[in-house]
Formats: sequence, structure tokens, C-alpha cells
Amino acid sequence: MEQAPCRCWVEISKRRIAENFAAVREVVGPAVEVMPVVKADAYHHGAVEVSRLLAGQGARWLAVSNVEEGVELRDAGIGVRILVMAGLLGGEWETAVARDLTPVIQSLDELALLERIALRTGRRLAWHLKIDTGLGRLGTRAPSGEILSAIHAAPHTGLEGLMTHLASASDFKESQTQQQLIAFESMFMILAGHGCTPRYLHTASSSAIAYGRRGAWKTMVRPGLSIYGYVSPAEGDPPERLLAVRPALTWKAAVLDVKDVPQGAAIGYGALFRAPRPMRIAVLGAGYADGYPHQLGNRSRVILKGRHAALLGAVSMDLLTVDATGCPDLQPGNAATLLGREGEVAVDAAELALGAGTIAYTVLCGIAARVKKVYV
Ligand SMILES: *Cc1c(COP(=O)(O)O)cnc(C)c1O
Repeated sequence: MEQAPCRCWVEISKRRIAENFAAVREVVGPAVEVMPVVKADAYHHGAVEVSRLLAGQGARWLAVSNVEEGVELRDAGIGVRILVMAGLLGGEWETAVARDLTPVIQSLDELALLERIALRTGRRLAWHLKIDTGLGRLGTRAPSGEILSAIHAAPHTGLEGLMTHLASASDFKESQTQQQLIAFESMFMILAGHGCTPRYLHTASSSAIAYGRRGAWKTMVRPGLSIYGYVSPAEGDPPERLLAVRPALTWKAAVLDVKDVPQGAAIGYGALFRAPRPMRIAVLGAGYADGYPHQLGNRSRVILKGRHAALLGAVSMDLLTVDATGCPDLQPGNAATLLGREGEVAVDAAELALGAGTIAYTVLCGIAARVKKVYV
């Protein structure tokens, strides 16, 4: 049985990430640029390692949320284009320009700021414009006339991309996606009618790719979750899924102790679990401080020696207790799988998310920084 190198760690399969990226490219075809999203430390898969890998696999663009994330990639020597999608603070524009990060403009005032920097630096600065077509988050809601005047007032910059973000791409009960795409297309037509034709048009993240919303693909797509091997469940009556991806991350913890408890023994905080019979329990070196959702008390399972083992009682800060009754030869120092696969037996982030009443994104992004990353 595998021995644990530390209390709690994740193993990230570079091959899986490369395969998932290739699968997305295959689905959208060669005419559509694929810009993987590596924000939030690549959904805890390690932004620098993942970006290096994807650039090596031919990604020409990567997307991050903020300037700090972009700077981390530049510091690591990542040379591909990097789009900063989720807004810049006043003091960050200079840094973005200095580090060759391409900003997404969310409101037209920002364009005037970028024009001033372009004049000062003597560089023609590229930018993407995000329009709010119904998500009601970032992005301009200005009418096309105002957008065109702002563009004309910033001649030392270049509109390279027009983007929007979809609110309900995995929801096939509602027509919000169609409405957003109509709004996006009509804005594009007006801009194009005035000679303004950005090279990249992009609206699709993983769900719109996976569920074949081809009308959303345009000339660029922005997959995040699917690069890491997941696709959100759909609502309503989705068409057949086009994209097959597999999880790249396995989450493990050390067995710290194994012991027998009598019938009636209480387990963990609040005595949330009581042994209905004599049991063998194992205590694992992971808890909510590692990102294991506290909501999963009494309602999840891990993998011990290739078999599912139920979580017993509350999730503690640094410890989990599981049922090891079926594993007579389990030893302290062995490794348990919190998320991943051993042979035919699997636990994935979607299962944990369901149990915790959340989404797979938060399970992955919630894995704490203290959990070491090992690349395999
Ligand atoms: C996070 C994000 C994405 C990626 O979304 P996934 O659902 O993870 O594929 C794409 N675009 C924007 C604007 C985002 O914020």
C-alpha cells in the first residue's frame, strides 16, 4: 500500500491536463482559439506549472482574473498572451502594461486611462472589451454610440477582442443564453458597421463548449473547469455532451492512526456519529483547514485501500475520521484518497460538491494553499 509523503497533498496529472486541453481543441476545431483559464492558481492545480504545460502544448493565450495572477506568470517566464478578465484597480494599469498583460475593459472610463498610458509609453496598447449582456456583473452596459465615441477617443489603443460572459450556459430550461448571444451579436454588428472589427469574439466557457452551444464559440473560447477535468451538470434537457474530460487532480491524506472503538462510541465534535457496532476507525491528516468542506460531516466517503470508506462524524480543522472496518491491514503512514480514483473506485469533486451543497469549482478552489502539490 502506498505510503504518505506528508499529511495532506494533491497529485496533479500533467498528462490529464494536456489531454483535456486537446479535447477542447478537438471539439471547437482549428478555427477557434482556445484560451485556457488559469485564474485562482489554476483552480488549485498550480498556475505556473499548468501555464507552462499549456503553453508547451500550444496555447497562445491564457486568462487570469487579476494583475497579480498575470505578474506571477510573467515572473515565471510565461511568454504567451495573458488576458486579465476580472477588473484592474487604479494602480494596476501601469503594471499591466509594463508586464504585457492584456486588460479587459469593463467600463469606458478605463479606456481613457489606457489611452493616456499609451500616449506616455509610445506603445499601441491592445485591449478587450467586456459587455454586460445580462450577467449583471462586470462589463459595460453603455450603448453602442458611447462605445464608438470612446474608441475614437483612444486612437493609440486597439480593440482586439469583444467578449461577454454567460450566466446560464448549462441551463437548458431558460432562454437567457440565447438572449445574451443576440445582444452580443447585435453589438458586434453595430461596431462592425462602423469599421470596428475586433479579431477575437468570445463568450463561451466550459459549459457552452461541452454542451455544444456552437453559437457561443465565435472565434475564441475560455475553458476553465473543463481543462481540469470537470463539466457542470446541466439543467433541463441538454443536447448530447460533445466534450469528454477527466479529472486531473487527486487529493490524498496520511492515515495518522488506526484503532478499534466499541459499540456506542462517540466520534468527533458534537458526537455527530455513534458507532452502531464495534468498529475500526482511521484518523486522516486532513480537515477543513485543508479545504475539505465542513458541510460533509457524516456525509461523504474517501477511498482506503481501493474501497470506499464512510466519513464518520464532523470534519475537524486538521483531521477526518473514517470507517476502516473493512481494512484490517491498514497502517498509520498509509495514504487515503479524498478525491480521485483507486482502480474502479472513485470519488470526484462533483460528488463532494453535491454532498456539501456546493459546486465542483469551490471544492477545487477551496483546497488550501498549505496542501502541497505534486506533479505526476
Ligand atoms: C472563470 C471564467 C471562465 C471559465 O469558466 P469555466 O466555467 O471554469 O470554464 C471563463 N470566462 C470568464 C469571464 C470567467 O470568469
